[in-house]
Amino acid sequence: MFSTFAASPDDALDQDTFLFEHAHNDLLSMPMSHESVHLKGQAPGTVPITGLNSLIYGHYSESTTSSSNAHDLSEPYGGYISGRDERDGSASSGHMNGYERSHAPSPLYYPHPLRNSRVNGPPNGHYYNAAIHMNSTAPTFHTTHGTTPVQPIAPPNANTNPSNTDFPIAQSVDNLNGASNTELPMAQSVDNRNGGSKTSLIPERTHSQESSNAHRVVTSNHKVSEFKANSSIPAALSWSEFARQCILAAESSRLNPFALHPGEYRLLRDHITQAQVTIYLNIRNAILRLWTRNPLLVVTIEEAAGCAREKRHFNLAQVAYFWLLRNGYINFGCVHVPNTTSAPPRSKAKNNGRRTVIVIGAGMAGLGCARHLEGLFTQLSDHWTTTGEQPPKVIVLEARPRVGGRVYSHPLRDQTGSNLPAGHRCTAEMGAQIVTGFEHGNPLNAIIRGQLGIPYHGLRDNTILYDYDGTIVERSQDLLVEKLYNDVLERASVYRHKPTAQRTVEGDRNLILFGRDPSDTPGATIATLENSPTPLPANAKTPASTTEEKPSTGVEKLAGRAYQLSAGFNPNISAAEAVQNMGWRLRPGAPTGQSLDLDPITKSLEYPTLGQTMDDGIKQYQNLIEMKPRDLRLLSWHHANLEYANAASVNQLSLSGWDQDIGNEFEGEHTEIIGGYQQVPRGLWQCPGKLDVRFNSVVRAIHHKDESRGFGKAVKVECNSGEVFEADQLVITTPLGVLKSGSITFQPPLPDWKQSVIERMGFGLLNKVILVYEEAFWEPDRDMFGLLNEAEHQASLNPDDYSARRGRFYLFWNCIKTSGKPTLVALMAGEAAHYAETSTDDHLIHEVTDRLDEMFAPNMVPLPSEAIVTRWSKDPFARGSYSYVGPKTQAGDYDVMARPHGSLHFAGEATCGTHPATVHGAYLSGLRVAAEVVQTMIGPIEIPSPLVEKKAKVDIPVPSFNPTPKRKTDTVPIQQDSDIMPDEDYEASIIGAILNEIGERPIKPGRAGINPFLLFTKDQWYICKKECDEARRTATGGAEAKASKTEIRTAIGLKWRTASAAVRQPYVNQTQNAKEDAAANAATYKERVATWDTNAVRIRQEYIQKHPPPAGTEAQMLNSRTAIELGAEKRPRRI
Ligand SMILES: Cc1cc2nc3c(=O)[nH]c(=O)nc-3n(C[C@H](O)[C@H](O)[C@H](O)COP(=O)(O)OP(=O)(O)OC[C@H]3O[C@@H](n4cnc5c(N)ncnc54)[C@H](O)[C@@H]3O)c2cc1C
Repeated sequence: MFSTFAASPDDALDQDTFLFEHAHNDLLSMPMSHESVHLKGQAPGTVPITGLNSLIYGHYSESTTSSSNAHDLSEPYGGYISGRDERDGSASSGHMNGYERSHAPSPLYYPHPLRNSRVNGPPNGHYYNAAIHMNSTAPTFHTTHGTTPVQPIAPPNANTNPSNTDFPIAQSVDNLNGASNTELPMAQSVDNRNGGSKTSLIPERTHSQESSNAHRVVTSNHKVSEFKANSSIPAALSWSEFARQCILAAESSRLNPFALHPGEYRLLRDHITQAQVTIYLNIRNAILRLWTRNPLLVVTIEEAAGCAREKRHFNLAQVAYFWLLRNGYINFGCVHVPNTTSAPPRSKAKNNGRRTVIVIGAGMAGLGCARHLEGLFTQLSDHWTTTGEQPPKVIVLEARPRVGGRVYSHPLRDQTGSNLPAGHRCTAEMGAQIVTGFEHGNPLNAIIRGQLGIPYHGLRDNTILYDYDGTIVERSQDLLVEKLYNDVLERASVYRHKPTAQRTVEGDRNLILFGRDPSDTPGATIATLENSPTPLPANAKTPASTTEEKPSTGVEKLAGRAYQLSAGFNPNISAAEAVQNMGWRLRPGAPTGQSLDLDPITKSLEYPTLGQTMDDGIKQYQNLIEMKPRDLRLLSWHHANLEYANAASVNQLSLSGWDQDIGNEFEGEHTEIIGGYQQVPRGLWQCPGKLDVRFNSVVRAIHHKDESRGFGKAVKVECNSGEVFEADQLVITTPLGVLKSGSITFQPPLPDWKQSVIERMGFGLLNKVILVYEEAFWEPDRDMFGLLNEAEHQASLNPDDYSARRGRFYLFWNCIKTSGKPTLVALMAGEAAHYAETSTDDHLIHEVTDRLDEMFAPNMVPLPSEAIVTRWSKDPFARGSYSYVGPKTQAGDYDVMARPHGSLHFAGEATCGTHPATVHGAYLSGLRVAAEVVQTMIGPIEIPSPLVEKKAKVDIPVPSFNPTPKRKTDTVPIQQDSDIMPDEDYEASIIGAILNEIGERPIKPGRAGINPFLLFTKDQWYICKKECDEARRTATGGAEAKASKTEIRTAIGLKWRTASAAVRQPYVNQTQNAKEDAAANAATYKERVATWDTNAVRIRQEYIQKHPPPAGTEAQMLNSRTAIELGAEKRPRRI
């Protein structure tokens, strides 16, 4: 019998009993022990079926199981950094196979020099891994040479000196895995970092450079900060490598590195010139670089300012910083935010409490929003404290007794025989299961890999398809039909609604590519240029042109197989031609020029759907080629795959908008979380400190008024328990299905525009039949296999006849590596999802077992030892699976769903038009709303005035230059024609050509700059310091007494003077060697720079010849030299 169970006592957070219906079936009577189903009748001692290897075809990528102990996320595939950075020596990514933890230090341990000055602090070279450890073993210290297990460290407040260099993180991830509720202190290193040693890998700058670029600034956050230009740009990197990392960081953050985001554009267009757009983008990308390299540490405003090359650009850096911060591009997720909130001044202190933000729902959207709000309220606290208020508080109201919502890893009843790493429970994913690529902007990259260090399993694209009778479909046939399917999909995509492009502004791509700022001469703002009688042409190729962001093409959702639409599909190729190119044979006598005509079907329907249109296309193809029933079954399998991705029958998907999120796919392999996806929402809830989530709080009514006056709360939220909460701002993240159901009443009712979009949008259904076995009878290394279904009328050639059954168990996920036990997850997509809701567990389990039996014949497939059937539409707190674009959904409806109404804000996957129906989309919507709430409370980001200070006028002597010297010593003076201003764009193109061809001008090597005494001091400092501290403590009797630096220096001086020749000799030798190296470097440099200069002259000449400048300026252009060509490098850089 299928039976409900009471939650086990250690699992108070997973006692959700709403999700699964429990049919009672006498044939399968089981003890009342568990919510999930346990079946008897299993064949004893089932063994894996032999000979499965013969089923493999094709070449597949290696499956990977990975655990990332918080590593560099800025680089695709594991964070390997190339280039000349000192950090490069490290092994990347901490990949592990077979669950063995790799202790190879990740690039995190060689992080940005400034961002980790504390991390570099200890003289013994220890680096601490701040990620949460995945099992309950002791945390580890990573050294540059290896890994040493250490004892767990006490929490930060347990009598630890804040300036200590030991970082108390490394709690067991058991907490995320549901075993306990202990609070997890994350990334405490942040506090430490700010307080102590200033060790930095950046070569010291001369005093004059520092003082001219350092600046004490009152930020728009009302804080006085010490800013230093360039301080966040590592001198050890070449500009081009630095630029590469910055560009990658922007791309990893879903931002175009070369153009303003429409939000930035709106904020800046009245204030910024074209040249400043490039400067701003360079700064913004550099800030993102800091964040993506180590998302365990918040980026500070000082670090952001250090991304500016000149102090005049600090305000630009400030705007970039606050824009990125507020909008959740940096400092998001499970990152510890140091609390620097100052108490409100007494004179202004108010007694009437704090503002409150209530978030309804503790799914990914709600938790993401609440976590980011907490962070923003801390980081922007002065906005409240200066007016006498405490920063607002955040309360999350959650109906269930657990976090995660539609991310739910249900614990299996039998936890024995687990193959998971210690500390993990065996679970099955009831809801979300797949992370659809970490690269190219998935925010979960920072959280899963960078912050929580959760292990994951990379999925191989190795679907094998079984026909309905259990035979394996030949790969060639599968490919042939898949090509046909893609062709029809492409032809139907002609009817796709073209999204309106958003206006924005591009920077100078060439300069950004090489990490260079343009010269910032005064000019008109973007807005002025746009409003001038001769506005910039949209999409003009000039630098900093106003342009429009265009979406690319591509279709890839959660489905078992991805569909990639070609960027330039040519509908003019006739169908007959296309189908022959694919490898099909035309029917005898079929016209070779024949094409498909989908217009009649699309015009005949008021709301044309993808399914109807494609089926019509398939029928038309049947006139051209002979299709067999198996081809129809294969085509229907692809329909089912789309139905999985969209949680709806293709016959319910809007033809023009079903893939309105196209082009936003992430990159990298798809993965599953080992030990359960729910670790991610648990992490967001618990790390770095617990959010205030009130469980079992079922909201039934929302009373709201349009505006909050003073502290009078704008919103009252009423729960089923009768409890009432008041809030100034309310964030609603309940699923669209819940909003549609009307189970929450709004007083007054939501306005028509909101209510009607709720009705128009689609909310679909996907269900799973989860089967747990004692032993795998399938290939354990195959991540998924598909199953074709027969039509309702056997061997039908009519596509319509397949719609009811095609989604039944159409795909099996093999979850042996992630759930901890031999587990198959069978998907019920499209109409089959509804069939699962109305069928009994017993029926479904027998049906699927019969199907598996045929697939794995002649071996007998046993009944599962445990089985779970999801019924998401019956879950009162979901009412379905995820949103889709229904036939009546209008373009832009996701944005309308997202639009706030007074103090009511809306988040959740169904409000994220760019990434709907996904976990990351839900999370991104939470970040969006956090920014929206903060803006409502404190207004938009202030633009400082002036945004960029005027340049101080300095007369720099310009060396003269003659491209064709008559004699070696000849020089031609530069033509100083004050009427003709050099064309910056033209110059930029020339320098782009030069850099493209010969790279950067060699950099003058630094002088050796060392002497024996300096080297000796470096070695002796800590030894002498210890001795001097002891002497001071003895002298003063103070237990904490410390020697001054002068005392230490004096002691070292004395040691040096009294040292024997033998002690001194190694230092003398080292100095000598360094001097010789420097001399050799200088000689090489001379040669290289001479070659570079000659080539640069040549390229300039060639460029000018090819692309003549405006008449009259040729000579000036020939003679002109940019700072790059003059080698006007201030800081010594390595060659
Ligand atoms: C079967 C299935 C498979 C999926 N597979 C994937 C996948 O592989 N990859 C992927 O990225 N995404 C997948 N998704 C989608 C993904 O799970 C969701 O998009 C995402 O989790 C939605 O998050 P959310 O915060 O918007 O909503 P939810 O997670 O639903 O959160 C909303 C919260 O509001 C609470 N709530 C509801 N009503 C009330 C009330 N009256 N009072 C108080 N609280 C209330 C709910 O309990 C819930 O916790 C899948 C979903 C399903 C159902």
